[in-house]
Amino acid sequence: MPLITTETGKKVHVLEDGRKLITVIPGDGIGPECVEATLKVLEAAKAPLAYEIREAGASVFKKGIASGVPQETIESIRKTRVALKGPLETPVGYGEKSANVTLRKLFETYANVRPVREFPNVPTPYSGRGIDLVVVRENVEDLYAGIEHMQTPSVAQTLKLISWKGSEKIARFAFELARAEGRKKVHCATKSNIMKLAEGTLKRAFEKVAQEYPEIEAAHIIVDNAAHQLVKRPEQFEVIVTTNMNGDILSDLTSGLIGGLGFAPSANIGNEVAIFEAVHGSAPKYAGKNVINPTAVLLSAVMMLRYLEEFATADLIENALLYTLEEGRVLTGDVVGYDRGAKTTEYTEAIIQNL
Ligand code: NAD
Repeated sequence: MPLITTETGKKVHVLEDGRKLITVIPGDGIGPECVEATLKVLEAAKAPLAYEIREAGASVFKKGIASGVPQETIESIRKTRVALKGPLETPVGYGEKSANVTLRKLFETYANVRPVREFPNVPTPYSGRGIDLVVVRENVEDLYAGIEHMQTPSVAQTLKLISWKGSEKIARFAFELARAEGRKKVHCATKSNIMKLAEGTLKRAFEKVAQEYPEIEAAHIIVDNAAHQLVKRPEQFEVIVTTNMNGDILSDLTSGLIGGLGFAPSANIGNEVAIFEAVHGSAPKYAGKNVINPTAVLLSAVMMLRYLEEFATADLIENALLYTLEEGRVLTGDVVGYDRGAKTTEYTEAIIQNL
C-alpha cells in the first residue's frame, strides 16, 4: 500500500524502496531554473524522494486547456498528495483562469503559510532587528473565489465570499502553527471596520478560536494599519492570520522586508494535499538568464521535507544555505546587484559544497 499516514496524520506516498513520491511542476519563466537548482540540492543532500514531473501554466494554456492544469497533473497530485511547484504565469486581465487558483481550489489547500526571517549578509533597512514572522493567508475564499461578471456593460462585479467555517479553520490553523513553533502572539488582520460582514466573519471567528489558546496572545489589527506597522516595526509580529487578498498583498510586503521575493517560501496546506512553492511569480524578464535567486523555491522544499517528516534532510539543507549566505562569497544578483551577482548555478553549487 503506497499511501501511508505519518505520525502526525499526513498522508504521503511511499515507494517500496522507502522513498517518498512527490509531484514536481517546473512552471514558467524562472520556474524551471529555480526548480532545477532545488532538485540538485535535494539530490546532493540524498533526500529520500522520487519525482513525477508534470506540467501546468503557460504551456498548458497554449494547448487550449482553460484551467491551466492538465488531467495528468491533477492525477499525479491526487496520487502523491504532495507537490513542489515553480511559479505559473497567469494571463493578466483577460482570458483564462489562474492555474494557481485552479490548483488551490481543486485540492482545497485552505492555508497558505508564508514565513519570512532575516538572513545573514542579505542587507535590508531592517538588518539586525530580528524579523521572524509568518503570514497565514486564507487561500480558497474571498475575492479569489473567481465569481465575476459584468453587471452592466460598464460595471463589473466580483463577489467576496467569506464563510464562518473557513474562517474558523484558518484561525485555528494559525494558532496551531503558533503553538507548534513556540510563537507567543497571533495577530488577525482584517478590514472589518468597513466590510463588517465579510471581513468581520474572520475577526469574530478569530476571537472565538483564540479562547482555546489561552497561552497565546491574540490581537486584532485593521489591515491598513498592519501594513503601516509592518513597515515601521515588523519585529512586533510573530504570526498574522488574514483573508486571501489581504494575505497576498501583505506577504509580498513581508518578503520585501527581508531582502525580497527571492527569499520567500510558502506552503499551501489542505486536509489531503500540500503544495509547496515560492511566493514569487515567473519573473519573465529574468527567465533563462541563469541570474535569479533559487532560495525561495529551495526553502519551500525545506518546508516540504518537514511536512514529509524528513527533518534531518531539511536541517542539512537549511544549514548549508545559511552557511553559504553567512560566508557571503557567492551571492545572487538580487542581493549584490546583477552586474556582480553569482550565476544561479554557481550559487547552487556553493550550497551543495556546504552540505
Ligand atoms: P514576480 O514575482 O514574478 O516578479 C517580480 C519581481 O521580483 C521580478 O521582476 C524580480 O525583480 C523579483 N524576483 C522575483 N523572484 C525572484 C527571484 N527568484 N530571484 C530574484 N528576483 C526575483 O511578479 P510579477 O512580475 O508580478 O508576475 C509575473 C508572473 O508570475 C505573472 O504572470 C503572475 O501572475 C505570476 N505569478 C505566479 C505566482 C505563482 O505561481 N504562485 C505568484 C505570483 C505571480
